[in-house]
Amino acid sequence: MTDVAIIGAGTAGLTAAIYARRAGASVTIFEGEAPGGQIINTPEIDNFPGMPGVSGYEYANKLYEQAQSFGTEFVFDKVKKVEGSLEEGFVLTTEYGTVCEAKTIIIASGVKRREMGLAGEQEFTGRGISYCATCDGAFFKGKTAAVFGGGNTAVEDAIYLAGICKKVYIIHRRNQFRADQALVDELLAHDNVETKLSYTVSAIHGDDKLTSVTLTSVEGRDEELVTDALFVAIGLIPENGVFKDIVELDDAGYVAADETCETSTPGVFAAGDCRTKDVRQLVTAAADGAVAAVAASRLSRGG
Ligand code: NDP
Repeated sequence: MTDVAIIGAGTAGLTAAIYARRAGASVTIFEGEAPGGQIINTPEIDNFPGMPGVSGYEYANKLYEQAQSFGTEFVFDKVKKVEGSLEEGFVLTTEYGTVCEAKTIIIASGVKRREMGLAGEQEFTGRGISYCATCDGAFFKGKTAAVFGGGNTAVEDAIYLAGICKKVYIIHRRNQFRADQALVDELLAHDNVETKLSYTVSAIHGDDKLTSVTLTSVEGRDEELVTDALFVAIGLIPENGVFKDIVELDDAGYVAADETCETSTPGVFAAGDCRTKDVRQLVTAAADGAVAAVAASRLSRGG
């Protein structure tokens, strides 16, 4: 039986692994995709204390190696079921059938990118529609790209694409960006970037590949925007359905836990973007990982 089972190997989960191992607890961490979490797609991190300018990929790799160096056990499979209690122990089952018994659990499952919900979205994904500018931007070198969204991710994506593409449109449903002002200023300094504020994307068109999108203004006026690519960055949603029977979720589907990272279920903690919180940042994810790991390690020793 492992002392601490961690679900998710993003910043929160990997930090939790480091802290729990240093506290002497045995740790098994489950990850259904590549380790590193969302940050792996960020070209440059400017706000993690003490590491200005590091790329998301480099940061995530270093964190992964650090967690490995402390003797964390990794299982690359998605947890599909969690049962049990602090008294009897928890049992985690993965999609490929791995069963793990654990004294405590830290849910650090992160979030996934929101989709537009438009007809053809799935069919055109990989054929013009993308959710990751750093992964797919290079395919549109010298071409036209549009970014949909107004937060930090969208603005960072548009800045990145402005250095690769001939023309970049950024489409946002309000007349003001949500992103940090410093990023917006950097974006607007590019003369190949054009803003389409107070518009949403209402339809996507193409045959084999994306050729254009319909934009609808807040007044209800439609216009066609010819573009080779559409990068969707309209926010994040939690994927906590698998935990709904073991912990309380809030109305938006995040795990209900406060700054102590304790959930409604003794022995189960939540850390990082997956929990109810105001500020979803790397630094708060790392902080959650440490807080949850210290508490879980102590509890696993009966403290
Ligand atoms: P955000 O939630 O910050 O922004 C999402 C954007 O998408 C908002 O502008 C929102 O509009 C818009 N939106 C949401 N739903 C829809 C919809 N259905 N149709 C159209 N537009 C929609 O998400 P991000 O992914 O940008 O960022 C997530 C978190 O990660 C944030 O906390 C962000 O600060 C952080 N982050 C930090 C970075 C950094 O510090 N370097 C880099 C990237 C992300 P509206 O504004 O009207 O709500």
